Amino acid sequence: MHYPTRSPLPTLEDRIVAHLAKAPATRSQLCEALDTSRTNLGRALATLLDEGSVTPVRTNAPGRGRPTQLLTLNSSAAHCVGLNVTRTSCAGVMLSRSGAVLAAVHIVSPASPSLQLSLEQTCEALAASAARQGIDTSTVRAVGVGVPIPMGRNARLSSDAYPSVEELAALTRRWWSPAPVVDNTVRMAALAEAMWGAGADMSSFIYLRLSGGVGGCVVSDFRLVGGAGGLAGELGHMTVGANDSPCACGKRGCLETLASVPALCESAGVGDIAELRGAVLSGNARAREALDRAAEAVGYVLGSAALLINPRAIIVAGEVVDAFPSLRADITASMYKELLPVMEWDIDVVGASLGPLGAAQASAYIAAHPSEDEVPLPRYAEDAPTREVGSASSMRTRTDRGGRP
Ligand SMILES: [Zn+2]
Repeated sequence: MHYPTRSPLPTLEDRIVAHLAKAPATRSQLCEALDTSRTNLGRALATLLDEGSVTPVRTNAPGRGRPTQLLTLNSSAAHCVGLNVTRTSCAGVMLSRSGAVLAAVHIVSPASPSLQLSLEQTCEALAASAARQGIDTSTVRAVGVGVPIPMGRNARLSSDAYPSVEELAALTRRWWSPAPVVDNTVRMAALAEAMWGAGADMSSFIYLRLSGGVGGCVVSDFRLVGGAGGLAGELGHMTVGANDSPCACGKRGCLETLASVPALCESAGVGDIAELRGAVLSGNARAREALDRAAEAVGYVLGSAALLINPRAIIVAGEVVDAFPSLRADITASMYKELLPVMEWDIDVVGASLGPLGAAQASAYIAAHPSEDEVPLPRYAEDAPTREVGSASSMRTRTDRGGRP
């Protein structure tokens, strides 16, 4: 499953919503402003009125003839929900039809509860937040879920080690009726970076997250690549030499067994990432060695991946990168050793710029926008008059790195 990383041309519905977001308008005013026929406008409006995004208001100007019907955006109606679960935290957002964030929650769970429990807590907290604010959730039309397991959209499970899409759907549908679109958390985080963050306007990059696990993802030619089964870019499970530690995926020697938070802490003999940071800063040799080994392995895997797609940048994210800013330089040095020395390479290794709410917003976005596998390829516009869910400006203010709502 591929996702385009540039917004398609806005639909007439999108343009009506963008116009009404500025001020209420009559049908005639909308036809004129949007340069469309009464018939086309009526068709698009019927959808918006039906889903509850737009509400008619009758106004009677004193002393004038027939009452005029003004159309206004229903600002308290929720349109889509995005939920993103990682092994250490979860985030949820509820967006209006115009892409405004109506409710947002971010729950940090160091105890790593089960995926289902994390998802349940997020749904509950988001629904409670919406209820407190009087948001109408009967209008929710799309639900997107990111989960921290190798589950590209439409990928198939070969064992019952992980919950199925149906099991996750049964859970979210206790709160919102639409069947959820389920994909991988890291892919949603990478999509957010591609659309609104560090990878905006980049045609290609590799995204790697060093966190409770190690997740990867590839953007090539402005598409978040899924591959044949939705599993492209699982770089955390590439085998790195001279290492036979068992991985959660069932293999041995994966990158994840060297560079995830639990793996690093175990190698360094410390309890958590804060202790690891303390140990490295105080010159503990075992901790330093674990970190160096991880940087070497990450660079090796990224170098191999870079030879395959020649990315413009590598975007690194996760608690390990946050705790050790100098790691980027070590990873870069290790990666460059894998590249062809006779060629000039120009690959920046940069940090991610969006936090967990950005990834949740990407989950909502893919759910609210039909995929290219279901509809003809979207047409792109360099100068689209409106952007849809989560414009760059609103995303940056809403999802500051590490911030809470
Ligand atoms: Zn693995």
